[in-house]
Amino acid sequence: MTSRNQGGTLDLHADSGQIAIEDMKLQDEFARLARPEGQSHRLLAPDGTLIAEQIADGAQFAAPEIDRGQLRTMLADSVLGADPAAIRWGHMVERIDAAADGSYTLTFGNQAGQHGTRPSPVTVDLVIGADGAWSRVRRMLTSVTPLYSGVTFAEVLFTDVTSSHPGIASLVGDGHMWANGDGRAIILQRNSGDVVRGYVGMRVELDWLARAGLGESDGRGGLTLDANATHRVQEELLEGVRAELLRRFADFAPELRAVIAESEGALPSRPIYGMPTPTSWDHVAGVAVIGDAAHVMAPFGGNGVNLAMLDGVELAHAIARAAERGEPVDSALRVAEQRMLDRSNPIAESSNAAIREHFASGGPDIESIPDWEAEAEQWNKNATAYRSESNR
Ligand SMILES: Cc1cc2nc3c(=O)[nH]c(=O)nc-3n(C[C@H](O)[C@H](O)[C@H](O)COP(=O)(O)OP(=O)(O)OC[C@H]3O[C@@H](n4cnc5c(N)ncnc54)[C@H](O)[C@@H]3O)c2cc1C
Repeated sequence: MTSRNQGGTLDLHADSGQIAIEDMKLQDEFARLARPEGQSHRLLAPDGTLIAEQIADGAQFAAPEIDRGQLRTMLADSVLGADPAAIRWGHMVERIDAAADGSYTLTFGNQAGQHGTRPSPVTVDLVIGADGAWSRVRRMLTSVTPLYSGVTFAEVLFTDVTSSHPGIASLVGDGHMWANGDGRAIILQRNSGDVVRGYVGMRVELDWLARAGLGESDGRGGLTLDANATHRVQEELLEGVRAELLRRFADFAPELRAVIAESEGALPSRPIYGMPTPTSWDHVAGVAVIGDAAHVMAPFGGNGVNLAMLDGVELAHAIARAAERGEPVDSALRVAEQRMLDRSNPIAESSNAAIREHFASGGPDIESIPDWEAEAEQWNKNATAYRSESNR
């Protein structure tokens, strides 16, 4: 579980991620870890002028923040507590073969960088792919693949911010900071443990590193690091990448450029992908996908994790209900799949459009201020509506 960097902070929305938390009876644990003050927002102009600010009320629970690693540990522990063998780590699915009797055999490879004996194949009658943007399971349903949005985020990291990076600490406050320029943005997010993470986002070619002579000539600009196709920056090229980013943000205020200059991390480059919308496929017996595998989208609006969690609990209920009633599981999968796509397609469409608009040439309009309170109110309203439904 600690095998890869789990990344930054996430806001769990009242109408989706928190519904799933409640379903798993993890509200108390979530409340202990969540940071409602992390819902604060700050919007800056590229010259460092404060355009707008919202200080979150500590009692507001519309979308409190939690570190991605804390969330993952909390969810995994809740499953492993009931059955320590419920999760088998290190099983990278390499192939899925369908048999005439309707079963599937999963063949595993070694995880990147690992050698030795491969796990034994397993045969199952139901495959649910929660295997992210580059899902293998999705290939059994559709040949459609995610498309590059035209925007890449280079990740920044600051530890021990209070004493080591006081300027960064004061820029970000307790929550999020955005500084928007022409087709570019510097984004900071307060994490727990005196850590700040963020992104230097820009509209750029997919192989921008290679074009700047800073990556492997694999046509994409570096080495693929994880399931989200993150490009690792080679150590000897790190300062070159930093200089290139500083060049691209030369017109930003010095205190904002400090985000690039002071970042402790390796500045990994995350191209942002989204499935074309609307996405759908014909149901395949015994196969389903959830989360990014089904509907990876631009992280504008912070919906990806929230939808993935809701997809998971809804599908689990659908399968359990069918089993209890002795009904065909495939009919339940079909209904849950359609409900998931009906929900995710419009959200994906607007998230993908929002990132394109935000990073368009000349954009975004720095005078346009998001209505954070209206957004929080909407999540709370949607949550009430969801709870009053009976079809969970
Ligand atoms: C820069 C960035 C910022 C984001 N910020 C936010 C945010 O603030 N809020 C938010 O809600 N969302 C955010 N997202 C989106 C969010 O990260 C995803 O929507 C979310 O992680 C999806 O969860 P998932 O479980 O479906 O997929 P993933 O988190 O990608 O998990 C998939 C898992 O499947 C495993 N896997 C992949 N292939 C195989 C295989 N062949 N065999 C076995 N296992 C496999 C992977 O190792 C991984 O553990 C962001 C995304 C990016 C790129």
